[in-house]
Amino acid sequence: MAPIKNFISPKIYFNKGGIDQLSNFIGNYRVGKDEYCVVFIDEFFEGTDINLLGDTENIITYYVSTEIEPETALIDMYVEKIKIQDKKISCIVGIGGGIVMDVAKAISIMLTNDGETENYQGWDLVANKPLPKIGVPTISGTGSEVSRTTVLTSPKKKQGINSVYSMFDQLILDPTLLNTVDPIQRFYTGMDCYIHSVESISGSYLNEFSKQYAEKALELCRKYFLDSGSDAELMMASMFGGYSIVYSEVGICHALSYGISHVFGYHHGEANCIVFNYLEEYYPEYVPEFKNMLKRYDISLPKDITKDISEDDLESMVNMTLLMEKPLNNALGDNWRDILTREKIRELYLKM
Ligand code: ZN
Repeated sequence: MAPIKNFISPKIYFNKGGIDQLSNFIGNYRVGKDEYCVVFIDEFFEGTDINLLGDTENIITYYVSTEIEPETALIDMYVEKIKIQDKKISCIVGIGGGIVMDVAKAISIMLTNDGETENYQGWDLVANKPLPKIGVPTISGTGSEVSRTTVLTSPKKKQGINSVYSMFDQLILDPTLLNTVDPIQRFYTGMDCYIHSVESISGSYLNEFSKQYAEKALELCRKYFLDSGSDAELMMASMFGGYSIVYSEVGICHALSYGISHVFGYHHGEANCIVFNYLEEYYPEYVPEFKNMLKRYDISLPKDITKDISEDDLESMVNMTLLMEKPLNNALGDNWRDILTREKIRELYLKM
């Protein structure tokens, strides 16, 4: 039997300046005085005078590079580093964008589950309950703060640990933390939310729950990227976009963009934009609107990236796309393989 999709919302503390409460939230999970909390934090904050941790005690801090998206080997390395310290760990914290949050999620799972991280990439493969985890987004759009996936790259593929155990237990949503994000990153990450909502609302898995959240996320994205919206609104859009895919799925854009990230190293948001630009035949209502957003933010997307691609790389991208059965089923129905054939996928990639 397929696992029951029981909607789970983490505890959410929303407040401007809410980061001040982090040590209290960590305290909720720390039972003994000798227990530690492992904090993963975007390396951007290293060496700045922004003190996000206050005077929190018993923490082990790792600054996470966001240069490349997290690999399963990185998670295995952190797990080893943590285990070797032989300390009792009470909770995990992730402070940053999608990358740092995904690292925190994966670590919370891998500290209680044996073997290598890449064995858990897929749907519902995690057996043991993870350590409690707190998410503090400092970039909005990925929805990683509320999603049931932990997106990782392994030598063979980019795929999420899709599991209820990927979900955070506690979130701190503090819109002031978005102050430091530069406009281009803001755009690409925000578009991830826009595309989640488009794929959700256009797919066959949609139910009323998902629809309501997708509509609200789209409204907020339009306000933010075509008119003028606040960071607090962008933060809510990201969360609603994430909620929307809990009962639906992503779609064609995500199925293709993982291949682009894997082979060319583009970050998720940017890879999505590169792909979405060519999907007008599937999302005719939304791609023109997306192009207006590109124009308004004066973004010129990377072009001709597949011009000199090797046959091997192209094959591996096509194979990776075909692994995304659920998103493609959601977008195109049961006979998706007849619609999005290998040839069609190749053709789309070669346009990019
Ligand atoms: Zn996404």
